[in-house]
Amino acid sequence: ALVASQSFDFFYFVQQWPGSYCNTKQSCCYPTTGKPAADFGIHGLWPNRNNGSHPYDCYPKKPFNLSEISDLESSMQKDWPTLACPSSDGQNFWSHEWKRHGICSESVLDQHAYFKTALGLKQKANLLQALKNAGITPGGSYSLKSIHNAITESAGYTPWIECNKDSSGNYQLYQIYLCVDTSGSKLIKCPVFPKGTCSLEIEFPSF
Ligand code: 5GP
Ligand code: 5GP
Ligand code: 5GP
Repeated sequence: ALVASQSFDFFYFVQQWPGSYCNTKQSCCYPTTGKPAADFGIHGLWPNRNNGSHPYDCYPKKPFNLSEISDLESSMQKDWPTLACPSSDGQNFWSHEWKRHGICSESVLDQHAYFKTALGLKQKANLLQALKNAGITPGGSYSLKSIHNAITESAGYTPWIECNKDSSGNYQLYQIYLCVDTSGSKLIKCPVFPKGTCSLEIEFPSF
């Protein structure tokens, strides 16, 4: 059973645009496996509560074990690449996401199911295609509203857009949040949105 401190109501499924991670003041490092494709990458699948809070410091029953997901590793390298410096093969990022977030939903999804579920959701919510279908492509500037509309049309639900700033201080499309039911099987209407600022018009930088 879930202890109260680990209860959650839904997941945020968070994907990052690599161009917006890399063109900041902080910059980025490509994984040791090479430059990722110009596509959204998974950041994480985060248990959350309807009141906006989220479980934290969940007790790891088992440490992250890369060998449990060896069958997923090539998909992980493609769809869940790390861009943090120094360059690495990604297992630090995956381990971090498992320990900080995945562990909190371990009663529903074990480690293998957690990563497999996230990979499946990425295929289901093909964000780059959804944006392209609406004429929204990297290298341009678009209204936040047009981005919302494109993703709502394709995913069926309104996403949350997180912006960050490029090295010149312009707001840009950094992360896209979709909400997922507690079993990880379907997209749902977000019970609550995160907070944060974008401008009405944001950059979608190339990568
Ligand atoms: P930041 O301070 O960079 O926004 O977030 C730091 C970390 O806190 C994130 O990378 C993520 O792991 C976690 N985090 C931020 N917002 C949320 C949220 O709404 N729900 C959950 N579960 N974690 C969050
Ligand atoms: P969060 O707690 O925000 O989910 O995870 C962010 C942590 O993962 C940070 O410590 C960050 O350095 C590390 N990390 C490694 N690779 C990446 C990446 O590609 N994107 C982001 N956002 N964080 C990464
Ligand atoms: P509304 O819900 O009326 O569209 O927006 C309320 C406020 O939240 C406005 O300031 C709007 O710009 C902001 N906002 C709406 N959607 C998003 C989003 O996806 N991301 C961010 N960062 N702000 C948003």
